[in-house]
Amino acid sequence: MTYINYEKIDRVGVITLDRADKANAVNGPMLDELDEAWSMAAADRDVRVIVVKANGKHFSSGHDMSGSNEALSGEKGAAQSDQSNQLDWKERGLEALYEWESKRYLGYSRRWRDIPKPSIAAVQGACIAGGLMLCWPCDLIVASEDAKFSDPVVRMGIGGVEYHAHTWELGARKAKEMLFTAKSMTAAEALEFGMVNRVVPRDNLLDETMALANEIAQMHPFALAQAKRAVNQTMDIQGFYTALQSVFDIHQTGHGNALAVGGYPILVDLDQMKKTNN
Ligand code: ZN
Repeated sequence: MTYINYEKIDRVGVITLDRADKANAVNGPMLDELDEAWSMAAADRDVRVIVVKANGKHFSSGHDMSGSNEALSGEKGAAQSDQSNQLDWKERGLEALYEWESKRYLGYSRRWRDIPKPSIAAVQGACIAGGLMLCWPCDLIVASEDAKFSDPVVRMGIGGVEYHAHTWELGARKAKEMLFTAKSMTAAEALEFGMVNRVVPRDNLLDETMALANEIAQMHPFALAQAKRAVNQTMDIQGFYTALQSVFDIHQTGHGNALAVGGYPILVDLDQMKKTNN
């Protein structure tokens, strides 16, 4: 794998985002590799707990907006061979985006959330937009004191990222504030709102996360799976699962509008974006 490392430490499957030179911005191949790592951890009976962590200063700067991002370039088959991986929105419009994002954003995040083993995300630095879709599906989140969380995609003409956990993670008012202002929330605020479990000094992030993972790994795996299912099932009965799907469709109307008025899937100043990325 190019963008992801996977290793097993005792009974913990450790998945590492390894694209620090791009602040762990996610592109298609990285998401596919990440899904592969989750699958390996899920399939291995010796793995009792899954940890998702990131190399570098930042957990993830979110969707890769660079020119090399096949997710937004619209070039047919850019660095991809499998037809389902092609995001040829220039030819197929919203249909192509809907298909691509259904699989990689909504589909993957929802699948990771439902894997029947406890998972813990260790988050440091920036966690922006698409980055939230990497840590929110985890059962627990340990944040370092410097962690900052944001979903600024309203600035791009879209109502929020593809995986709408905001309302569940923060409650309605804070979710709206996060989306309306595009501002980032500190780790301390995230703790206060119940979005993260613990806040620890940056230097202790990995040790504290692994200690928590090892503690949980001592428990009976079936009981853990059932405890997880009990909580997730309760949320699903309250509407989490169906809300995710319907808000994903709302998200797509943002892309549809951007395509209609600007000819690009997001409303953005492309020259400015290139400058920011270079
Ligand atoms: Zn999208």
